[in-house]
Amino acid sequence: MIRKTRLFTPGPTPLLPAAQFAMAAADIHHRTPEFRALYQKVLAQLKVFVGTKNDVLLLSSSGTGAMEAAVSNLTSPGDNVLVLTAGKFGERWVDLAKAFGCQVDVLKAPYGQTFDLAEVRKTLKPEHRVLFVQATETSTAVRHDVEALARLIKEVSPGTLLVVDGITGLGTTHFDVDNWGIDILIGGSQKAVMIPPGLAYLSVSDKAWAAMEKSKNPRYYFDLRKERKNALKGESAYTPAVALIAGLGAALDYIAGQAGGDLEKGRIALVNNAQVNAAATRAGLVALGFTLFAPTAPAAAATAVAVPEGMDSSDVVKALKTRFASVIANGQGEMKGKIFRIAHLGFFDFLDTIALLGAMEHIAKDTLKLPVRYGQAVAAAQQVYADAVKS
Ligand SMILES: *Cc1c(COP(=O)(O)O)cnc(C)c1O
Repeated sequence: MIRKTRLFTPGPTPLLPAAQFAMAAADIHHRTPEFRALYQKVLAQLKVFVGTKNDVLLLSSSGTGAMEAAVSNLTSPGDNVLVLTAGKFGERWVDLAKAFGCQVDVLKAPYGQTFDLAEVRKTLKPEHRVLFVQATETSTAVRHDVEALARLIKEVSPGTLLVVDGITGLGTTHFDVDNWGIDILIGGSQKAVMIPPGLAYLSVSDKAWAAMEKSKNPRYYFDLRKERKNALKGESAYTPAVALIAGLGAALDYIAGQAGGDLEKGRIALVNNAQVNAAATRAGLVALGFTLFAPTAPAAAATAVAVPEGMDSSDVVKALKTRFASVIANGQGEMKGKIFRIAHLGFFDFLDTIALLGAMEHIAKDTLKLPVRYGQAVAAAQQVYADAVKS
């Protein structure tokens, strides 16, 4: 039988065909009026996509490059910072802040859970120059309450900068960047914006720009002040990933096109799409006998489920690839073999969800020997969809 290759991983995600065509056609030099027009258009679209009046900058790097830029531009060696971590990407903030000589306080939540806000309140101090957190912790598929954290900062320590890794949060979570007061919010190209890896984008508040003037950590390629100066002229400081930028423009056009050309409405529709597909996936997998790994604060970016005791999630990942040419993600680090993760961010629709759940019924029955009735997972997902379109 024919098996179409399908990605269900939380980065890279499936590519939008219109973006692929735009990338193939992007034979332009980066110091020309043609490129400047493209760059200015994409930067303006990104502002709407992020939903902010703040500057939005593009970097030719993977998402971690923008995370590093946030650390190197905002901190000085010896600065006290607070990292809230509940998974592998939170741990990346810890490593990055240490690499730049920060004195790092860490507040941890167990894998699969989010933070206790009372504990954050107790831990956060005015000495903390920056609070680093994820919007969605992709390694555990947990959503953190960025709005509540931002409110807490305003109450407890208004001088602290709030830096949010929204790499899988953007396009799957509603943010009100300016009203909440997010100083830096970071996105990545291989996630909800439907193009390959290689670009990161970030919004930067006035408070963050002011802080940058005082920070003493070294930066060169990721000097945000230099990027901002160049962006004002419609250029990037160095040779940018031109093809990816052309693809990003096409993808943002597509997202706007989902709501009659209104990018803000298109962004909201994209978030709602992820939320419905995530809810349908959770319902389907629970109906099959799996346990949600993040039951209390599930992200819409991805769903993580635990396999029953004594079983290995690697078998599920392998069987889906072999039988259905579909790629899902295993657990990272210590979670490998215990959970698997299915993405909903970006170019996924409800039919993708139904197809995957149909395949999962076979895997659960044949590979894991669970007592499956065909249609069980699909029926649960159908109900979620029906309820969602009614409301
Ligand atoms: C994908 C991802 C990153 C960035 O990883 P890169 O490989 O550098 O693009 C960072 N944080 C989260 C939450 C992610 O999902």
